[in-house]
Amino acid sequence: MAYKAPRGTVDILPAQSGKWQELEQLLRTICANYNVKEMRTPIFEHTELFNRAVGDTTDVVSKEMYTFEDKKGRSMTLRPEGTAGIVRAYVENKLYGLPEKLQKIYYMGPMFRYERPQNGRQRQFHQFGVEMLGVESPYVDVECMLMAVTVVEALGLKNIQLHINSLGDQESRDAYREALQNHFQPVLNELCHDCQVRYEKNPLRILDCKVDKDHPMMKTAPQTIDYLSESARAHFDKVCALLDDLEIDYVVDPNLVRGLDYYSHTVFEIISDDPKLGAGSTVGGGGRYNGLVEELGGPQTPGVGFAFGMERLMIALGDEPQEDEGLDVYIMPLGSEAKDLAMQIITMLRANGFTCDMDQCDRGLKGQFKSADRYRAHFSMIIGEEEVKKEVVNMKCNHSKEQVEVPLENIVEFIENHYEGDHDHE
Ligand code: AMP
Repeated sequence: MAYKAPRGTVDILPAQSGKWQELEQLLRTICANYNVKEMRTPIFEHTELFNRAVGDTTDVVSKEMYTFEDKKGRSMTLRPEGTAGIVRAYVENKLYGLPEKLQKIYYMGPMFRYERPQNGRQRQFHQFGVEMLGVESPYVDVECMLMAVTVVEALGLKNIQLHINSLGDQESRDAYREALQNHFQPVLNELCHDCQVRYEKNPLRILDCKVDKDHPMMKTAPQTIDYLSESARAHFDKVCALLDDLEIDYVVDPNLVRGLDYYSHTVFEIISDDPKLGAGSTVGGGGRYNGLVEELGGPQTPGVGFAFGMERLMIALGDEPQEDEGLDVYIMPLGSEAKDLAMQIITMLRANGFTCDMDQCDRGLKGQFKSADRYRAHFSMIIGEEEVKKEVVNMKCNHSKEQVEVPLENIVEFIENHYEGDHDHE
């Protein structure tokens, strides 16, 4: 049987991994810039964690999770998003007790959702996310948004819009919940079965229903912003004022509710009309989640964060091939004695920190030169029978095309001297 990767997954081949590393490096640099530290949590967690954190009326939990029983019959789930695991680890490891009250954490890695694979949607995809836990302040909301904007700007994405909204605190959400129920009550039997369940359990989720999205009552639904309590309103006004001061463009989007249950107060999305992504693509989003730490058994602790889909960031990065550094040395042995010597030399060169490779296919010079070319080797080192006898190698600089005989004991010194005179090589 011919094996195929599971539907909705992709292989990142060696030719593409350089680009991924470039993206990861850029994200890590921005994190260092914002003093955000990495956390790595398990790829699978107890299913209950996601039911609790993400919410069992969300599509992600009710329809898209990869859930399985382990050998002891415990229900486990491949993580569909990053925040739940980070907050679980924050509580379990008591990071709230650290002297720095504001913990700024990032993660990147694969996430799993059983969705219909299509352009830009996979079943295994990658997210980069940031969580800022411990301080309830509009300044921290804005720091988070700034970071998200920095990422898309660093990637050179054009026509970006920051959409923001507020879901408010518990008091605002209770008032809004009631308003939504009153709004949809007269047409309840026209909504899909899922929405009828949502109506009781979590009416906010009706607003992101994919089945009923064109129902006329959707357009006229009450908006969160009109139900904010006084303090929630003040928080949101401060967020807007700070963005204004920093001259960050944004749009208040009253329809933005986000698809996960844990959000409260500020929510935001970064939408791009860059032709590379297609009009109106959401590159990432996030918001504040003040109840989540407590929900997962920790002390009342506010949090705010965002996540980007890394596949979308990769598209933004463009597909010009990544120019890697090129090898320092490609070793070209001719004959078995030369090959034995080549193994000695390559081991010694690698131990000295040079990047090198050698022919393992017993080819003639022509084929070996082609490899040296493909690997963009600075030097080709030719070792024939003659050289073995004389205890030398033939070093050809592929830039100047100069070729010199170098005694075995002088190889490292020769390469170093050569590089010193060559300002193109760092
Ligand atoms: P969410 O956790 O649903 O807020 O998603 C955050 C970001 O992750 C989205 O804006 C997308 O860029 C990305 N994303 C979510 N689901 C997928 C998927 N199935 N395939 C690829 N990217 C995804």
